[in-house]
Parts: sequence; structure tokens; C-alpha cells
Amino acid sequence: MRTTAIIGSFARTTAATVASSSSSSSSSSSPSSSRAKAKAKATNFRRQKQRLRTRRRRTRTAATETKELTALEQSDAIDDTLDFPIDANTKFEPTIGIETHVQLQTKTKAFCGCHYSYGASANTQICPICMGHPGTYPKLSEEVVEKGVQIGLALNCKIREVSKFDRKQYFYPDLPKGYQISQFDEPVCEHGKIKVVIPVEEGGGEAVIGITRAHLEEDAGKLNHVGGSGNVSTATHSLADYNRAGVALLEIVTEPDFKNGKEVSAYGQELRRIVRYLKASDGNLNEGSMRCDVNVSVKPVGRKRFGTKVEVKNMNSFNAMARAIDYEIERQEKLYKEGRGDEIVQETRTWDDQNQRTVTMRKKEGLADYRYFPEPDLNPLVCSQNYVKIVREEMPELPNEIRDRYKSLGLSDGDIQVLVEDENLVRFYDEILSASISNSNSSREVNISKQAANWLTNDLLAFVKNEKLSTPYDLKLKPEEIAEFCFLIENGEISGKIGKDILPDLLTNGGSPRKLVEEKGLMQISDPAEIEKIVQKVLESNQSQLEQYRSGKTKLKGFFVGACLRESGGRANPTLTDEILTRLLSEG
Ligand SMILES: [Zn+2]
Repeated sequence: MRTTAIIGSFARTTAATVASSSSSSSSSSSPSSSRAKAKAKATNFRRQKQRLRTRRRRTRTAATETKELTALEQSDAIDDTLDFPIDANTKFEPTIGIETHVQLQTKTKAFCGCHYSYGASANTQICPICMGHPGTYPKLSEEVVEKGVQIGLALNCKIREVSKFDRKQYFYPDLPKGYQISQFDEPVCEHGKIKVVIPVEEGGGEAVIGITRAHLEEDAGKLNHVGGSGNVSTATHSLADYNRAGVALLEIVTEPDFKNGKEVSAYGQELRRIVRYLKASDGNLNEGSMRCDVNVSVKPVGRKRFGTKVEVKNMNSFNAMARAIDYEIERQEKLYKEGRGDEIVQETRTWDDQNQRTVTMRKKEGLADYRYFPEPDLNPLVCSQNYVKIVREEMPELPNEIRDRYKSLGLSDGDIQVLVEDENLVRFYDEILSASISNSNSSREVNISKQAANWLTNDLLAFVKNEKLSTPYDLKLKPEEIAEFCFLIENGEISGKIGKDILPDLLTNGGSPRKLVEEKGLMQISDPAEIEKIVQKVLESNQSQLEQYRSGKTKLKGFFVGACLRESGGRANPTLTDEILTRLLSEG
């Protein structure tokens, strides 16, 4: 605690130094003098950087230094904009960061005993505590902490042994207390990172996104605008619903590590999978259980100073998020290139899905002063190492761990993507695999992993969708029967073609695939003598093709293969058929 206090006061001193040095070197007119000023600033910057470095060795961490360096680069102490003149050919790079509010699915709100459920009648889920009546005290829910820590661990964050809650005050009609309990400078989770996988259909690949921090806080209520077209500017009046006030949120802030909208969308989807796997939130975008605000700016490649930051919100799908960000990057680049850079202002924009563009929602009027101070009614939050260990042990297998496991089974990226999307599918697939062990009573080892992934992600899932079943567990075919089905194919007892033919019957009626195959006499013919008979019959009834083949037209082999398979009703073992056919063709 004491160390933190020292760091905090040091950071303030630095900021103060920076501010005073910049104000003393203002008012410059000609370009040459502003160049000289910029040079002086750069020297000043180098000195300060050196000072930061020497201090770090004694008292500070690399992370704190990086943070302070970035702050310095963005302060007036250094301004390298003149070193990067912009014209129509300038190459830009975007800086993108996301803040996501995840509503935690807990039995009660964060600091009182109220239960919250989306869509309940207005103001029926409130009490004096979440309404901030005088004389009431907040009591932190243990479940809220546990879910917050779980998400933090899943994002590879460090969990602070001691963190604290602060009051963030602002006045807004949906905030009955006039302040929000949040965590300001000592968040419960910080310094994490998460690997995200870009969907195969969008080119595939991976990106690693740094997590700056994740902190616990309470949600505000909701205003319902009445009259006009239902938005705040045309409404005749607004009704306040305080049900949501006090519901637990985890706000997750990323580093500006994204390169484009595709990565942002992949990150959002991965975060949603994580909270769903953990059962920490339902992650529904359209019910507001997960809300993403994206900050976008662009700057010439290599320049340190960031461009003006624009916030984009209200994107109701990950797809829309990707498009909104790519649109915003393009819009800002275009304005800079046309010499209209000053039209990019600090503002909040919203995504207009109908017209596929971002539009101004509200302009920012400087930085809001929230007058944060430590929440006097709550003790500091202590998460001992032992507590964190226990929470970690209770966590289920997470998407990235499952991906690695499936990769080691040899599954394709496409199949892994489909399976991991839904934890029910993962569970179902794993049950097929464990059932397959009991099927493997033959001497040679039969591995159905790839076969099962393939059938499940294609034919079976298509059936689930067409029949509007909610999970694969609603199929008549049980995991052990699917395992048997895959075993029959992998073991060469039926061909993939026969498998495809009998699948509709199995999906409609259920039952043992082996029994059905036996009843219909569809077992693959693997007896060489029997196959030889079939091949001979085919050769005899196709004399002219045989003569052509033997006089050098070897391309006809495919014709014979097809004829043999047809003759056997698709049951002849393809490998054996090929061997025997090759031999008989060359005998002549
Ligand atoms: Zn309450």
C-alpha cells in the first residue's frame, strides 16, 4: 500500500513538471521557430525519459514506466507532428482500444440483496441500498468478486492482493445515488493478455491483445424515452427504471493493440465465449449484458503522438463492430489526407447500421472531473493468494485450452472454430470421444477424433439447425451411437458414402448404426476373393474399354473403379478394389 502511494505522488509530480515546462514554451509563430521549439521539446523529453529510467531501477516496475512514457509522449513535452507532414500519400496506422462492460450474472446485485432479471417490470427490483437512501450501507457480494476474479484470471491478469473501491460522482437521472461505486486507481485485475483467433472465413490467424485492467463497479439504471421517435432528443418525457442500478459490472480495458476491425470483433467474440464458459455472464449484446465502447484514432506510421481519439458505441453485433471501426479508420484517414484533420474532434459517435456509417452522438466537452475518492463505506478488497488459487482451481476448461487440446488431436482450424463456439458442442464432442474408447475393442487402435469432428460440425449440426433443435443433445442419436457410426467408417466396415446414405435414417429414428448396417446388409466387402469376382465381372462386361486400356489409354482406370463400386452397391473396400483392379488390368 505504501509503495503505491509513493508511485501515485511521483506520477503527479511528473505530470506537474511536464505541464509547467510546456506552458513556458508556448506562443510560437513562424514554422522555423516552431521547429526549434519542437527540437527543444525533444531534448527535454529525452532528459525526462532518462530520469524516468534511472528512477525505475530503484523503485518502479516496467509497466509503470511504459505508462508514464506513453503519457510523456502524449503530453506537450514532445510533439513530433512536424516530423510527419501529411499529404495524399501518407501511410496511416490506427490506434484502437476497447472498454467492455460485462454484466455479471450473480444471484444479487453488487452491494445489496436485490435480484436483477432483464425485462422485469420497472422499479420492482430495488431497495433502499441500491437507491442510496441515507443511512444505508453497501455490502459487497462474494459471488461478484469470485466472478470478476475468474474473468480476470481467464484474461491472464494479475489479481491485486489489495484493491479498493472508489466513488465516482456525476449527476445523471439514471443514477439515483448521485455517484457510482467503482474502482479507480487500484483495480482488482490488471496487466493481462489474451490470444484471439481470427475466424477462418476472415483469413484466419491470431492476435495477442493486452489487457490494461479490469475493475468491478455497479451499473446505472435505465431511462426510457417516451414520445417523439423514442430517442432522447425528440422525446416528450423520460421514465426512469432503476432495476439495473447496482447490478455488478466488470469493466475490461484493453491496450491499443488492435490493427483493424476484424481483430476487435474477434476479441469481442472471444471475451463473450470466456464469460459464457465461466457462467459469469450471459454476454448478450442486445440485452446490454455486454457493452463495448471502442476508441479509434489514426496517425502517420512511426509518429509517436496519437491522433484525435473518437469513441464509437452502440454496436449491436460483432460484425457491426468490425465494420464501424474500419469505417471510422477510413473516415479519419481521408479527412487528414484532404487537409481537414481539424474536423476530427473528440466525440462519441454511434454506428448507423442502416446507412453503414458512424454519426456524431455527442461532442466531448473536455475531461469530466468525477472527483473520485475512496468509498468510505467499504473496506479494501483483499484477495489472498490462497483465495485466487481456489478460484482458479474451480474454473472450467477455457476456449484457448480447448483449442490447444483439439489441435493436438489433429482437428482442422475450421472444425475447432465451430466446436469451440458453443460449450454444449464441446461437451457433446468430448462425450463422443470418450464413448469411442469403449468401441475400440479391436486389435488395432481406431482414432475417430477427426471423423467425429467432421460429421458433427457438418451433417449433424446442419440437422440440428434445420430441425430447430437447441443443442445436439436433442438429437435422437446419442454420443455413443455417433461414436459407433464414426468407428464403422474409420475402421473400414462401411464407406463414407454409405455413412452419408444411412445418416438421415439414423437421425430420424436413432438406434445403433451397426445394427442398421447389418440389417440392410451394407457392411463393406473386404474379402479379396469376393472383390476379385466383382472386378472380373466388370472387366468382362466392358470388353471394348478393356482393349482401349490395354492399348495405352490408361486414363480409363477411373471408369473401371467407378464401375466396380457401382457393381458392389458402394460396398467394395476402395483400397482393396484398387489393388485388385490394378493387378487384373495389367494381367491381360
Ligand atoms: Zn437493492
